[in-house]
Amino acid sequence: MADYNVSVNVVGPLDCNCVIVGNKQTGEAVVVDPGGDVQLILDEAERMNVQIKKIYHTHAHFDHFLATAQLQSATGATTHLHQQDQFLWERLEDQCRLIGLILSSDQIPSPPDTLLLGQEPITLGTTQIGTVLHTPGHSPGSSSYYFPELGIVCTGDTLFRDSIGRTDLWKASFTTLQESVLSKLYTLPDDVKVIPGHGPATTVGREKKYNMFVRDVVDKGVSKLAEGCAGCEALKGLEARL
Ligand SMILES: [Zn+2]
Ligand SMILES: [Zn+2]
Repeated sequence: MADYNVSVNVVGPLDCNCVIVGNKQTGEAVVVDPGGDVQLILDEAERMNVQIKKIYHTHAHFDHFLATAQLQSATGATTHLHQQDQFLWERLEDQCRLIGLILSSDQIPSPPDTLLLGQEPITLGTTQIGTVLHTPGHSPGSSSYYFPELGIVCTGDTLFRDSIGRTDLWKASFTTLQESVLSKLYTLPDDVKVIPGHGPATTVGREKKYNMFVRDVVDKGVSKLAEGCAGCEALKGLEARL
């Protein structure tokens, strides 16, 4: 799509992929997951000649919003998070303490401006550029952001190249994550580029073909996971290794 620029930046202590989607015509941008390095994000936005208007979070684990508060105060952008991850947002400092990270007061964001439910349009000005997909499992409010005209989806820690997000974390669910991938992500066109929360990009088609964590279920044509399904049994073994 000629009117948009997409920039993927590896930021923060845990190498989070921070995505900037800029509209060349209006000079406005959406940022997904500012996980650290606020100056790097601001410099990139300046290079792209865009102003950051909105910050979307794929979920509220600390490594995806360490730069949120500073980015918000530098740009005045609004913050957007699924409502079911609000409990994690409220415990950002506790999350950071687990790895010995003490936040300065300017790193602690105020509550999200918008609490999402899923299916909302993502807009810049009056133009819809994307859609919110609620893809729970890694966390209850995990969401993916689909930009159809750009052919990209930002999947956070739900779907990685050859892997999926951990589900041994607070309020996470392996079966819920699988259902999210099957029903919300694997139903997108095969050539859609997947930009995960960490690591290299991939495509929907590639993951459908090679991602071990959900492939068995797809091969069997099972869209809903049933108790005792052979595919699920195989996957339970994988769950223990996550
Ligand atoms: Zn996470
Ligand atoms: Zn992460």
